[in-house]
Amino acid sequence: MGLTYQRVLLKLSGEALMGDLAYGIDSKVVQSIAQEISDIVAEGVEVAIVVGGGNIFRGISGAAAGMDRATADYIGMIATVMNAMTLQDALEQGGVQTRVLTAIEMQEVAEPYIRRRAIRHLEKGRVVIFGAGSGNPFFTTDTTAALRAAEINAEVVFKATKVDGVYDADPKLKPDARQYQSLTYSYVLNNDLRVMDTTAIALCKDNNIPIIVFNLSVAGNIRRAVMGESIGTIVGG
Ligand code: UDP
Repeated sequence: MGLTYQRVLLKLSGEALMGDLAYGIDSKVVQSIAQEISDIVAEGVEVAIVVGGGNIFRGISGAAAGMDRATADYIGMIATVMNAMTLQDALEQGGVQTRVLTAIEMQEVAEPYIRRRAIRHLEKGRVVIFGAGSGNPFFTTDTTAALRAAEINAEVVFKATKVDGVYDADPKLKPDARQYQSLTYSYVLNNDLRVMDTTAIALCKDNNIPIIVFNLSVAGNIRRAVMGESIGTIVGG
């Protein structure tokens, strides 16, 4: 079976790297994610990743504890760089070529984000990991994922989560909650469904980039998604 998507933007939350820990990074989990990514790179898929930082620091929590919000957000962005470098290490240990590109310059450890360079890396088969979010406080890495997807002409955003897709109620609280197979951007926005934040959904809508929400902890799901198998929930026009 052929590939449905040639260039994908994978959004990994910081929590995805945390596994069952309460904080930080579970290296076993990171290794298994890296393996899943390496499987699709081997198929010739161009993979760009935006990684969050919620397993380490969230700006909004810092602000709630009395910090200046913008300062807290910059700390959150720097936290995402730790995750990006961890993922890079795991991928490279598995023989995958990668580059970390950060929206806040830290040239000793990563390249600065330059759009055309990111595209060039992808064309050469390198996995590009975007660190430091969008570089702007008051944004999220979900919004960064939508922004970078549009910038690099990704065909789809993969939103990897801990649940199987988007439900009409919280499946952890209501066992009879029903999972949607597909949704329109407008429905998600109008009903305030928690797929990604509204800025991210609006950006994907404006640029016609579908979002596939699926469970990262089911082995093989990233591959199924690139092959166009119907998993999770797809959000589109
Ligand atoms: N952040 C930011 N601007 C961005 C992206 C992220 O200020 O463009 C900060 C923000 O404080 C956020 C933190 O980085 O709380 C970590 O990102 P996020 O919460 O999106 O991570 P995730 O929930 O995906 O783990």
